[in-house]
Amino acid sequence: MIAKKPAELPTAHPSQAGEAPPRDAKKKFLRDAAAHVGDTGHRAFVRKALSGYYSTRDAQQSRYRDWEQARDAAALAKWSAVNRLDELLPRFVDNFEANGGKVHWARDAAEARQIVLDLVRAAQAKAIIKSKCMTSEEIHLNAALEEEGYGVVESDLGEFIQQLRGEPPYHFVFPCMHVRRDEISALFGQHLGTPPTDSPEELTMIARRHMRGLYVGADVGITGANFLVAETGQISITENEGNARLTAGLPRVHIALSGIEKVVEYLDDLAVLLPILATAGTGQPMTCYNTLYAGPRREGEADGPEEMHLVLLDNSRTAILADPEQRDSLHCIRCGACLNVCPIFKNVGGFTYGTTYQGPIGSVITPHLRGLADWNHLSGASSLCGACTDACPVRIDIHHHLLHNRRNAARTAPNAWERLGHRLFVLVASRPWLFAAGGALFRRALPLLKFLRPPLLRDWLASRDLPAAPRQSFRRQWQGRGHREGRA
Ligand code: SF4
Repeated sequence: MIAKKPAELPTAHPSQAGEAPPRDAKKKFLRDAAAHVGDTGHRAFVRKALSGYYSTRDAQQSRYRDWEQARDAAALAKWSAVNRLDELLPRFVDNFEANGGKVHWARDAAEARQIVLDLVRAAQAKAIIKSKCMTSEEIHLNAALEEEGYGVVESDLGEFIQQLRGEPPYHFVFPCMHVRRDEISALFGQHLGTPPTDSPEELTMIARRHMRGLYVGADVGITGANFLVAETGQISITENEGNARLTAGLPRVHIALSGIEKVVEYLDDLAVLLPILATAGTGQPMTCYNTLYAGPRREGEADGPEEMHLVLLDNSRTAILADPEQRDSLHCIRCGACLNVCPIFKNVGGFTYGTTYQGPIGSVITPHLRGLADWNHLSGASSLCGACTDACPVRIDIHHHLLHNRRNAARTAPNAWERLGHRLFVLVASRPWLFAAGGALFRRALPLLKFLRPPLLRDWLASRDLPAAPRQSFRRQWQGRGHREGRA
């Protein structure tokens, strides 16, 4: 007998139902971005939701003796592991299996889904509970399990809310940051039959009461992994609600899913990685629960799962590893700091990206995971201000990677209009008389653009006021201030 999907849970969001990239991903991005940028209420709400982040993060960073040195140490731990994956992964696997766990290798999302399905079938699961796991979002696991008739309940509060809403996570650390308290109350009322409340504590308790029985009744618990410790064969999971502990510890079978890049060499590496992840991600000194899982229940132990499985996913990570220019994007510890500081994320919102990993790091890695041709437009979703790079606790050069992706796309699939534009610019910019004449013409034509609204600029003009054109060129203004050309 297989588990049936609980009646109150909507099916997975359409964006989670398959991995084939929509051919119109770029059009959809532009359409959704325009809609969200024009939605000032949504933007204000997201900004408010993030407003406390900066002060708590900065206060917490200031408690480090040297925050920059901590970033160096974290970056070194990840650099050292990612550059020696061929040595550390087998060491981790040997130690993990010596602890009694079983490792399964998955080349891509389809293989990973099949492995989990086989494990769930073998366990004769009647109920499945799952804690936060972005790797499962990456492989669209919920949709695959539902297709086979298995119901999965998300145990992380934010993910549970998103599951009830039938939406994917909005932000990979704060999945429901775009949802108001009254909306959550109404959602719980609709699906769980609870009375309305404005109290965050009561809303949390409603979810907690609902979830408790589900942990006990579940046969399979699915979790992610934050780090895989090669030295000891342990999985490290860090969380704020304690739900991952219950998800991993109460059901008969524990299945963890992880990308291969999560490995670190030493247990000591966690001494810097765990606090820096918490500080960069949420401004906490440490997340509330940091647990190391070392295999299933042993003889004489009173609790823990009977079986523990780890699915190690490649899904194009080895292709990133083979690219020395962008290899360090595998250092990402998914803290979400780059999203929190990104002006584009704050304006277009999380759903606009249409990807599992949103924001700057999502824009870097998604073209690798899902194809540059379909997802190159994400490289343009950046002002290249570098705020993401400054915020990254493991020093990934994020905004330069976005430039690399732009360059790679221009090389592999050059855009004829862009090339024509660049040639025209070279033609004009290399002839001072033409540049001056073009500038004069443009200054006169600028006010007309507002009325003529040429098709190429129509969308751009729809949400912007054109600035007044200056009466003189910059060069003239410069000379007018008594400067001679060629001298500051
Ligand atoms: S790229 Fe850096 S800042 Fe962004 S999520 Fe990863 S570790 Fe955090």
